[in-house]
Amino acid sequence: EIPTARRRSFGKSHKLDNVLYDVRGPVVDEAARMEADGTHILKLNIGNPAPFGFRTPDEVVYDMAHQLTDTEGYSPSKGLFSARKAIMQYAQLKNLPNVTIDDIYTGNGVSELINLCMSALLDDGDEVLIPSPDYPLWTACVNLAGGTAVHYVCDEQSEWYPDIDDIRAKITDRTVAIVLINPNNPTGALYPKEVLQQIVDIAREHQLMIFSDEIYDRLVMDGLKHISIASLAPDLFCVTFSGLSKSHMIAGYRVGWMVLSGNKRIAKDYIEGINMLANMRICSNVPAQSIVQTALGGHQSVNDYIVPGGRLYEQREYIYNAINAIPGLTAVKPKAAFYIFPKIDVKKFNIRDDEQFALDLLHDERILITRGGGFNWAEPDHFRIVYLPRIEVLRDATTKIADFFSYYWQA
Ligand code: PLP
Repeated sequence: EIPTARRRSFGKSHKLDNVLYDVRGPVVDEAARMEADGTHILKLNIGNPAPFGFRTPDEVVYDMAHQLTDTEGYSPSKGLFSARKAIMQYAQLKNLPNVTIDDIYTGNGVSELINLCMSALLDDGDEVLIPSPDYPLWTACVNLAGGTAVHYVCDEQSEWYPDIDDIRAKITDRTVAIVLINPNNPTGALYPKEVLQQIVDIAREHQLMIFSDEIYDRLVMDGLKHISIASLAPDLFCVTFSGLSKSHMIAGYRVGWMVLSGNKRIAKDYIEGINMLANMRICSNVPAQSIVQTALGGHQSVNDYIVPGGRLYEQREYIYNAINAIPGLTAVKPKAAFYIFPKIDVKKFNIRDDEQFALDLLHDERILITRGGGFNWAEPDHFRIVYLPRIEVLRDATTKIADFFSYYWQA
């Protein structure tokens, strides 16, 4: 006779208490329910280029197809030599100082490496400075690892650049590192050298490690140039992240990397921790690693999108003008990536809860955006639009958003 199981329920770990990832959160679940009922939803919520008709360069797909049979086994835990060599050349082009092939790690997207770096670093209560708004994985991984995410504000009045005084004010004895997201998600900001230099000065003064998430570094518009902060900090320990998800429209292949640079001597013990965790996950997806060389060495198809006449450029122009034409909304012009982070005049609309606002927009107009709170933005007065859809779709979306704000008043 099979004994009856004792009645018991399974709860999630308390480690998740402060973990939030609203880019795929409750409002997205509600949208999925509506779709299951046959409602068409206009999705402006996820930075995933392929479903919007951005194709992976053919040479990358052919390359992977040819290498599939050679990539059946595990690779070394840091990654294939060919991939890391190509990444090393890329690091040299970006002037990252003191980088050897041993300092390069491939990952199943940048996501895995962010998680790995925070797990290897943090003891309970260690503080990490993170921008607000941020790409929320950073805050989530710091909290999951037992650290404390301390947010410094980025200033909308100054092109969404980090507020240097606020960074200084947030440093304590427990601060170990500062995170930069440059180009930024969700604001589309690109940081100039002067701003980066000031952050390097602070990091030097307080002996902080620098983590720089640069996954959008090849999606920069208006003839501007991306500068890696690590190139300005040869005497500090820096970790720079990038990958192919956004620049090669292959977010689904899961391939990213990180590069350790600068003063690695001071991080010897930490690097041992990183190596341990990299070994434990064995290696990242090997077929995806096998295309890095071709992807980085070949024609950068994204270049055609980010110049006048190119899809991303023209969609950026459209969304920027359309949002600013809606009474009660204003937005800083994004310089990079494919996001815009409009501000809502909350007094005019009496918005106190941005999740409710996102749900109302979803129910009334069938448009899915991500609320500002999902990016650790403290006030309920912003939301993020992904402007990957074509202009016809963006036009439909902004017409509906304008309509929504013409009657919306949250009680
Ligand atoms: N970092 C930033 C700033 C992102 O916006 C994203 C994805 O949206 C990631 C990292 C994750 O990228 P990956 O696909 O390489 O895991």
